[in-house]
Amino acid sequence: MSAGAAVRRGTACEEFMSNDEKDRYGQKLQDVEAARENEWAHKRDQELIEKMRAKKTVEPTCPECEKKLVRDDEHGTGGMVCPERHGAWLSWDAIVKMLDRLAHPGSR
Ligand SMILES: [Zn+2]
Repeated sequence: MSAGAAVRRGTACEEFMSNDEKDRYGQKLQDVEAARENEWAHKRDQELIEKMRAKKTVEPTCPECEKKLVRDDEHGTGGMVCPERHGAWLSWDAIVKMLDRLAHPGSR
């Protein structure tokens, strides 16, 4: 008898929620999940953008006089130099090229 009751309860539940309703409920759950994922992705993007912005605003300064380094257009090294000529920041590639040119002065 109890088994019969259980079956009947099951059927009642099925009747209570039509397939259409169940689909809509499932869709809603998916929407909520998607929205949550979007929010997370959006937040993460914002954080990455903030980090990139923060990195860009850090300008190299001279460790000696703390003045902002300026681009060296004079010698075409592509590097940054202290306006007081205390020193310079060059990419390693630029330094290697320069050393190469010094080592082989006649090649160009
Ligand atoms: Zn300096």
